[in-house]
Amino acid sequence: MTEIWQRPWWFTNSSKPLLQPTWSYLLDNHGSLLHSHLFSALFPAAAYFVICTWFSCLMLIGPSQWRVPRPQILAVGHRSPSERECVVHTLLLSLFFVLPAAVLQSVLRTHIELPSRAPTILELGMGLMASLLLFDTQYFVWHGLHHVCPGLYRSVHAKHHQDHSGLELPISLAHLLPWGLYGGPAYHDKHHKSHKWHLAPYFIHWDRLAGTLAP
Ligand SMILES: [Zn+2]
Ligand SMILES: [Zn+2]
Repeated sequence: MTEIWQRPWWFTNSSKPLLQPTWSYLLDNHGSLLHSHLFSALFPAAAYFVICTWFSCLMLIGPSQWRVPRPQILAVGHRSPSERECVVHTLLLSLFFVLPAAVLQSVLRTHIELPSRAPTILELGMGLMASLLLFDTQYFVWHGLHHVCPGLYRSVHAKHHQDHSGLELPISLAHLLPWGLYGGPAYHDKHHKSHKWHLAPYFIHWDRLAGTLAP
Protein backbone atom coordinates (compact mmCIF):
# COMPACT_ATOMS: atom_id res chain seq x y z
CA MET A 1 0.00 0.00 0.00
CA THR A 2 1.39 3.44 -0.90
CA GLU A 3 2.34 5.75 1.95
CA ILE A 4 0.87 8.99 0.63
CA TRP A 5 -0.08 10.18 4.14
CA GLN A 6 2.68 12.34 5.63
CA ARG A 7 3.42 11.66 9.30
CA PRO A 8 3.75 14.76 11.51
CA TRP A 9 7.16 15.43 13.13
CA TRP A 10 6.01 14.14 16.51
CA PHE A 11 5.20 10.71 15.14
CA THR A 12 7.75 8.27 16.50
CA ASN A 13 9.57 5.47 14.66
CA SER A 14 8.60 2.61 16.96
CA SER A 15 9.19 -0.58 14.99
CA LYS A 16 6.26 -2.58 16.34
CA PRO A 17 3.16 -0.57 17.29
CA LEU A 18 0.82 -2.32 19.71
CA LEU A 19 -2.11 -1.77 17.36
CA GLN A 20 -0.34 -3.29 14.30
CA PRO A 21 -2.10 -6.73 14.32
CA THR A 22 -5.57 -5.17 14.55
CA TRP A 23 -4.64 -2.41 12.08
CA SER A 24 -3.26 -4.90 9.52
CA TYR A 25 -6.25 -7.23 9.95
CA LEU A 26 -8.71 -4.37 9.31
CA LEU A 27 -6.76 -3.06 6.31
CA ASP A 28 -6.28 -6.51 4.76
CA ASN A 29 -9.85 -7.73 5.28
CA HIS A 30 -11.96 -4.58 5.26
CA GLY A 31 -9.71 -2.10 3.40
CA SER A 32 -12.29 -1.20 0.74
CA LEU A 33 -14.97 -0.59 3.38
CA LEU A 34 -12.60 1.57 5.48
CA HIS A 35 -11.76 3.72 2.45
CA SER A 36 -15.38 4.07 1.28
CA HIS A 37 -17.44 7.25 1.52
CA LEU A 38 -20.23 5.26 3.18
CA PHE A 39 -17.97 4.20 6.07
CA SER A 40 -16.45 7.64 6.61
CA ALA A 41 -19.98 9.12 6.76
CA LEU A 42 -21.57 6.46 8.94
CA PHE A 43 -18.73 5.72 11.37
CA PRO A 44 -18.55 9.19 13.04
CA ALA A 45 -22.36 9.44 13.09
CA ALA A 46 -22.65 5.92 14.60
CA ALA A 47 -19.90 6.69 17.13
CA TYR A 48 -21.76 9.89 18.07
CA PHE A 49 -25.03 7.94 18.56
CA VAL A 50 -23.33 5.27 20.69
CA ILE A 51 -21.52 7.83 22.87
CA CYS A 52 -24.71 9.94 23.25
CA THR A 53 -26.70 6.83 24.19
CA TRP A 54 -24.05 5.80 26.74
CA PHE A 55 -24.04 9.22 28.42
CA SER A 56 -27.86 9.43 28.25
CA CYS A 57 -28.05 6.07 30.08
CA LEU A 58 -25.58 7.35 32.69
CA MET A 59 -27.75 10.44 33.05
CA LEU A 60 -30.92 8.38 33.55
CA ILE A 61 -29.60 5.56 35.75
CA GLY A 62 -26.15 6.71 37.00
CA PRO A 63 -25.49 8.01 40.53
CA SER A 64 -27.21 11.34 41.11
CA GLN A 65 -23.98 12.93 42.42
CA TRP A 66 -22.51 12.63 38.89
CA ARG A 67 -25.21 14.91 37.44
CA VAL A 68 -24.49 18.61 37.05
CA PRO A 69 -27.50 20.41 38.64
CA ARG A 70 -30.02 21.79 36.13
CA PRO A 71 -30.13 25.60 35.83
CA GLN A 72 -32.21 27.36 38.46
CA ILE A 73 -32.87 30.49 36.43
CA LEU A 74 -34.91 29.91 33.27
CA ALA A 75 -36.50 32.31 30.80
CA VAL A 76 -40.01 33.37 31.86
CA GLY A 77 -42.58 30.79 30.82
CA HIS A 78 -39.96 28.16 30.06
CA ARG A 79 -40.34 24.79 31.74
CA SER A 80 -37.17 22.79 32.34
CA PRO A 81 -37.50 19.68 30.11
CA SER A 82 -37.19 16.20 31.58
CA GLU A 83 -34.12 14.01 30.92
CA ARG A 84 -36.29 11.90 28.61
CA GLU A 85 -37.26 14.94 26.51
CA CYS A 86 -33.58 15.88 26.25
CA VAL A 87 -32.73 12.38 24.99
CA VAL A 88 -35.47 12.56 22.31
CA HIS A 89 -34.33 16.05 21.31
CA THR A 90 -30.69 14.89 21.03
CA LEU A 91 -31.69 11.92 18.89
CA LEU A 92 -33.73 14.13 16.54
CA LEU A 93 -30.84 16.60 16.24
CA SER A 94 -28.44 13.74 15.49
CA LEU A 95 -30.75 12.33 12.82
CA PHE A 96 -31.52 15.61 11.05
CA PHE A 97 -28.22 17.50 11.51
CA VAL A 98 -25.31 15.25 12.54
CA LEU A 99 -26.01 12.45 10.06
CA PRO A 100 -26.59 14.72 7.01
CA ALA A 101 -23.49 16.77 7.97
CA ALA A 102 -21.41 13.58 8.19
CA VAL A 103 -22.68 12.45 4.75
CA LEU A 104 -21.91 15.88 3.22
CA GLN A 105 -18.43 15.95 4.76
CA SER A 106 -17.66 12.48 3.46
CA VAL A 107 -18.83 13.34 -0.08
CA LEU A 108 -16.78 16.57 -0.16
CA ARG A 109 -13.54 15.19 1.33
CA THR A 110 -10.60 14.14 -0.79
CA HIS A 111 -9.58 10.48 -0.80
CA ILE A 112 -7.26 9.55 2.09
CA GLU A 113 -5.14 6.39 1.78
CA LEU A 114 -4.50 4.85 5.20
CA PRO A 115 -0.82 3.95 5.85
CA SER A 116 0.12 0.27 6.24
CA ARG A 117 1.89 0.97 9.55
CA ALA A 118 -0.36 1.36 12.59
CA PRO A 119 -0.03 4.43 14.82
CA THR A 120 1.60 3.89 18.22
CA ILE A 121 -0.46 4.58 21.36
CA LEU A 122 1.47 7.84 21.79
CA GLU A 123 0.69 8.88 18.21
CA LEU A 124 -2.97 7.98 18.70
CA GLY A 125 -3.09 10.04 21.92
CA MET A 126 -1.37 13.00 20.25
CA GLY A 127 -3.77 12.78 17.30
CA LEU A 128 -6.78 12.77 19.62
CA MET A 129 -5.38 15.74 21.55
CA ALA A 130 -4.77 17.64 18.30
CA SER A 131 -8.41 16.95 17.26
CA LEU A 132 -9.68 18.24 20.62
CA LEU A 133 -7.56 21.41 20.31
CA LEU A 134 -8.82 21.99 16.75
CA PHE A 135 -12.46 21.46 17.74
CA ASP A 136 -11.98 23.66 20.81
CA THR A 137 -10.75 26.51 18.56
CA GLN A 138 -13.60 26.37 16.03
CA TYR A 139 -16.24 25.91 18.74
CA PHE A 140 -14.87 28.89 20.70
CA VAL A 141 -15.45 31.15 17.65
CA TRP A 142 -18.83 29.56 16.76
CA HIS A 143 -20.08 29.74 20.37
CA GLY A 144 -18.87 33.33 20.83
CA LEU A 145 -20.76 34.40 17.68
CA HIS A 146 -24.02 32.99 19.10
CA HIS A 147 -23.61 35.07 22.25
CA VAL A 148 -22.67 38.23 20.33
CA CYS A 149 -25.56 38.06 17.79
CA PRO A 150 -28.94 38.13 19.61
CA GLY A 151 -30.81 36.69 16.57
CA LEU A 152 -28.40 33.76 16.32
CA TYR A 153 -28.67 33.16 20.06
CA ARG A 154 -32.49 33.16 20.05
CA SER A 155 -32.90 30.95 16.98
CA VAL A 156 -30.11 28.40 17.61
CA HIS A 157 -28.24 28.52 20.92
CA ALA A 158 -31.01 29.43 23.41
CA LYS A 159 -32.39 25.90 23.32
CA HIS A 160 -29.03 24.50 24.44
CA HIS A 161 -28.93 26.93 27.36
CA GLN A 162 -32.48 26.08 28.45
CA ASP A 163 -31.96 22.32 28.20
CA HIS A 164 -28.54 22.32 29.88
CA SER A 165 -27.54 19.12 31.57
CA GLY A 166 -24.22 17.43 32.16
CA LEU A 167 -22.20 14.80 33.96
CA GLU A 168 -19.22 15.28 36.25
CA LEU A 169 -17.59 11.83 36.08
CA PRO A 170 -14.95 10.73 38.60
CA ILE A 171 -12.48 9.98 35.76
CA SER A 172 -12.21 12.61 33.02
CA LEU A 173 -9.64 14.75 31.21
CA ALA A 174 -10.46 17.56 33.65
CA HIS A 175 -9.00 15.38 36.41
CA LEU A 176 -6.17 13.89 34.32
CA LEU A 177 -4.65 17.00 32.71
CA PRO A 178 -2.50 19.18 35.01
CA TRP A 179 -2.75 22.92 35.90
CA GLY A 180 -6.49 23.10 35.14
CA LEU A 181 -5.70 23.21 31.39
CA TYR A 182 -8.93 21.32 30.68
CA GLY A 183 -11.97 23.13 32.04
CA GLY A 184 -14.41 20.23 32.28
CA PRO A 185 -18.10 20.28 33.30
CA ALA A 186 -17.67 22.72 36.22
CA TYR A 187 -16.05 25.19 33.82
CA HIS A 188 -18.82 24.82 31.21
CA ASP A 189 -21.48 24.99 33.93
CA LYS A 190 -20.20 28.45 34.88
CA HIS A 191 -20.89 29.52 31.28
CA HIS A 192 -24.51 28.40 31.63
CA LYS A 193 -24.89 30.42 34.81
CA SER A 194 -23.29 33.64 33.51
CA HIS A 195 -23.59 33.47 29.67
CA LYS A 196 -20.48 35.67 29.73
CA TRP A 197 -17.54 33.51 30.77
CA HIS A 198 -16.04 30.27 29.47
CA LEU A 199 -16.93 30.07 25.79
CA ALA A 200 -14.49 27.24 24.90
CA PRO A 201 -15.85 23.72 25.39
CA TYR A 202 -12.70 21.94 26.60
CA PHE A 203 -9.52 23.91 27.29
CA ILE A 204 -9.10 27.29 28.97
CA HIS A 205 -6.39 28.93 26.79
CA TRP A 206 -8.77 30.69 24.33
CA ASP A 207 -10.86 32.16 27.14
CA ARG A 208 -7.68 33.32 28.89
CA LEU A 209 -6.45 35.02 25.69
CA ALA A 210 -9.85 36.58 24.87
CA GLY A 211 -10.50 37.79 28.43
CA THR A 212 -13.56 35.57 28.85
CA LEU A 213 -12.10 33.48 31.67
CA ALA A 214 -14.12 34.02 34.85
CA PRO A 215 -12.13 36.08 37.40
ZN1 LIG B 1 -23.61 23.82 27.32
ZN1 LIG C 1 -23.54 29.45 25.31
